[in-house]
Amino acid sequence: EISIFWFRRDFSIDDNAGLFHALKQTQNVMPIFIFDPNILNMFEKPLNRQVQFIYDNILRLNDELQCHKSSILVSYDQPLNFFQNLASRYRIKAVYTNEDYELAAIKRDQEVEEYLKTKSILFYSFKNQVIFSKDDILKSDGRPYTIFTPYSRKWKETFKSEDSKMYDCKVLYNNLYRFESNEMPTLDDLGFSCTKLEYPQIDISDDLIRDYGKYRDFPALEATSHLGVHLRFGTCSIRKLVERAKSLGEVFLNELIWREFYQSITYHFPHIAKGLSFNKKYDNIIWRDNEDEFAAWCAGKTGYPIVDAGMRQLNATGFMHNRTRMITASFLVKHLLIDWRWGEAYFANKLLDFDFASNNGGWQWCAGSGCDASPYFRVFNPELQTKKFDRNMEYVKRWVPELGTNLYPKPLVDHDYARKRAIEIYKNALTVE
Ligand code: FAD
Repeated sequence: EISIFWFRRDFSIDDNAGLFHALKQTQNVMPIFIFDPNILNMFEKPLNRQVQFIYDNILRLNDELQCHKSSILVSYDQPLNFFQNLASRYRIKAVYTNEDYELAAIKRDQEVEEYLKTKSILFYSFKNQVIFSKDDILKSDGRPYTIFTPYSRKWKETFKSEDSKMYDCKVLYNNLYRFESNEMPTLDDLGFSCTKLEYPQIDISDDLIRDYGKYRDFPALEATSHLGVHLRFGTCSIRKLVERAKSLGEVFLNELIWREFYQSITYHFPHIAKGLSFNKKYDNIIWRDNEDEFAAWCAGKTGYPIVDAGMRQLNATGFMHNRTRMITASFLVKHLLIDWRWGEAYFANKLLDFDFASNNGGWQWCAGSGCDASPYFRVFNPELQTKKFDRNMEYVKRWVPELGTNLYPKPLVDHDYARKRAIEIYKNALTVE
């Protein structure tokens, strides 16, 4: 008899809540990973940074597990099919995993759990990727927070040192199932080609956390952690990071809390996963959706240097600084009046750290349609933003070397004109009864 540990967004064999409980409560724990075609089909093929990251990490996990005479069983299948197949091959006592708060993931887990129940197999899911989830942080009336500041206050009041206690899996590796897996699909089988990627380091310095509040807004500096992808896939422990942030840097801690805030919004307001605005009134906006302008924005050829620099950084590296994420998003939505969902989808395909909750949250914040969003009449001025955050044009020149030559395009639209147009369109949409 075996038990299963199902890896999803938690690619670590240490400090992993679900794996810890599996190893503690059962023996012969077989680690598995399922490449789900429903998820893979959301990405553009054949090159995708996140898929490559996942693939590389599954190989790494397999190597690590082999050191303990175990392995990871990998398949490319619908999860439900896979479990049906597995249940016909093994006698399974229980399936362990970690919680995922996205709508599609919740539905998938319910389906799997129901099927397992029919086979008398237990299904356990644990909180792992955040400190607080679901109903841990609620308002005094029992409803979820929709404004960040009171949410973060409550988060900090609620936090106790046990909440960041690590799960020591190492002492339990004896309970891994000893087997050798030889069922790994190739990237090609999954419809993707190999890309060479450099992954951000997991070890960040104390100084970075300490000085984060001072320098984090300047895109020319290397002053943010680049940990997004590691937090997305559990290759860096949120518990360890929160401990460090608590002792070294409040501003950094606040950003980690923003991440949990958006996870909580995703969980409590699943309509945002159906393409709807958080604040439904904003679905009355009549977008211009000009495809040529969208293509210029994607390519970093809007004629606004700070916008173009951001987009080119994204296209070239899979990363974009938070300041320029806000500027480029605001430009698309307000200056060009292109539906924020187009931008959301573009970022989803390009960002190595793409995460539905934070991406949707960031886009809806910029579009004004989100919870606690930027007000609709606030239209970022790209020139003023450059003066404030890239005064010496270091970042801009790095990504837009042809600036000042006639190779550089003219602005797609005049700022003052675009600003007035955006406010007008938004006002009309929001006053519709
Ligand atoms: P740091 O500045 O070092 O922050 C540390 C960690 O805190 C980040 O890795 C991230 O996990 C979290 N964090 C920081 N800022 C935010 C924030 N505003 N919201 C939520 N979490 C935050 N973040 C993603 O992780 N994935 C996305 O797909 C994503 N899309 C975005 C889209 C838009 C339009 C905007 C405005 C923001 C988006 N963000 C997203 C939030 C933020 O820009 C990135 O988390 C951050 O820039 C990543 O860089 P870093 O890892 O160096 O973060």
